[in-house]
Amino acid sequence: MVALEEFTGGKPVAEGRWQAIIDGQHVDALSGARLDMVSPSDGQVFASIPRCGAEDINRAVKAARRAFADGPWGRMAPADRGRILMRLSALIAAEHETLAQMDALDVGKSIKQARADITVLSRYYEFYAGAADKTGGETIPLPGGFTAMTFREPHGVVGAILPWNSPTQMLGRTSAPALAMGNVMVVKPAEDACLSAIRIAELALEAGLPPGVLNIVTGLGEEAGAALAAHPDVNFITFTGSPEVGAIIQKLAADNHVAVTLELGGKSPQIVFADADLEAALPIIVGAITVNSGQTCVAGSRLLVEEAAWDRVVSAFAERFGQLVTGPHQGDYDFGALINAKQRDRVKRFIAGAKADGVAVLAEGKVAPDAASSGYYVPAVLFGPVPVDHALAKQEVFGPCLSVIPFKDEADAISLANDTEYGLAAGVWTRDIGRAMRLARKVRSGQIYINGYGAGGGVELPFGGFKNSGHGREKGLEALKEFSATKTVVINHGI
Ligand code: NAP
Ligand code: MG
Repeated sequence: MVALEEFTGGKPVAEGRWQAIIDGQHVDALSGARLDMVSPSDGQVFASIPRCGAEDINRAVKAARRAFADGPWGRMAPADRGRILMRLSALIAAEHETLAQMDALDVGKSIKQARADITVLSRYYEFYAGAADKTGGETIPLPGGFTAMTFREPHGVVGAILPWNSPTQMLGRTSAPALAMGNVMVVKPAEDACLSAIRIAELALEAGLPPGVLNIVTGLGEEAGAALAAHPDVNFITFTGSPEVGAIIQKLAADNHVAVTLELGGKSPQIVFADADLEAALPIIVGAITVNSGQTCVAGSRLLVEEAAWDRVVSAFAERFGQLVTGPHQGDYDFGALINAKQRDRVKRFIAGAKADGVAVLAEGKVAPDAASSGYYVPAVLFGPVPVDHALAKQEVFGPCLSVIPFKDEADAISLANDTEYGLAAGVWTRDIGRAMRLARKVRSGQIYINGYGAGGGVELPFGGFKNSGHGREKGLEALKEFSATKTVVINHGI
């Protein structure tokens, strides 16, 4: 295990007592309360964080407001903001391995995945650093005598409530565009995965980000998270997590008429036609449901297979699933532990419930022999054929569990793909480009991949949901619109 001191050069957290970052300072909760941090790989406590409450959120929002209104951030040239973000990107790249080790320990994800996450994180700051001084408004044609123009202005204080599954990617996805546009932030990371956010905020200060611009307030969702969503001096909120909590956040924000971006997960289909290149598709489809142990919003959790290819496809997937191994994050396994005991029990309940309902198990993976019995491991399971109205075909399991469902033809595939309350992502596997394009138009989800799934983190690609997967778009240049507001100025200068 990597020594904690290595994460921070032996600064205030040397003995595992991490602190929040408010106004550029390392601070404890005003109440002094703390929460234990547990490593999912062995269920052991390895550190603690401040259990911040409404009063800590309040001082963070005040610090952010000062940095925005009176501080250097509000007056800084966009190109200078970009330079700071670029320096942050470089500092993250220089600390790549240590950050990956920290995230793997904290989240239980395999070190391979954690390394990929840090690469994407660094890329987020690089991408939006370049955009900071290239995002202008437009001029609008009006009758003679008038000139109209628009400016893109920051919202002000952006509150971010983040999930635990990919904490570094989520921090990059929200903070890089928000800061590039000149906003200031109060971030409430998930209590189960917040160490990397603290370290990244330290690196941001080192990169030259003024104090108060990026505040990290650790604590529980119902306490710190709810206080942030309800704070009257927050101007915009971005949330990623469960649909239930998304609805709570939206209601809290509504009292202050604050706009909210919600990213709430999915039940994303992988649609495999008989003419697909199965050899190319199989590892990508397996990766899409096992990365992060299936705990990703875009997990491809439904495998829709054309009946004509059922036997061939199912036997290839069953063979692969039988070989999948989950194990400790340091090892070279297919995926790691689930985030906590609650999540493990939830996934196990789904699996046991499906078995009790008589849904056939096509294959099951294994737990590595060196996995601690106190860790939160669940082996991969391939179910099929899954009845279309079963919970496994409808609900987000958020675990390494793939449901295989047959379809007859193109029309049936489209109807099944859309037969869910979610609409986040989809994969279409066929050599027929016309068919692929018809599905791309008719499947209702925020992203559609043809003969692939994902694009190295997809920093450049607009991302977000239809239906219950949420609303608003992050990533790509679209995020710059989301994290800013248009102001229109009209001059009546006469002809
Ligand atoms: P969650 O409760 O929605 O947590 C997401 C974030 O919201 C965390 O920072 C959480 O804080 C915070 N939060 C929780 N209750 C809150 C409240 N009342 N007010 C304000 N903030 C609040 O998700 P979860 O319980 O960790 O996971 C449950 C399920 O959500 C999963 O099984 C999965 O289906 C889904 N999920 C989806 C995504 C995704 O990427 N779309 C990510 C995570 C979870 P704390 O964790 O610190 O309490
Ligand atoms: Mg943890």
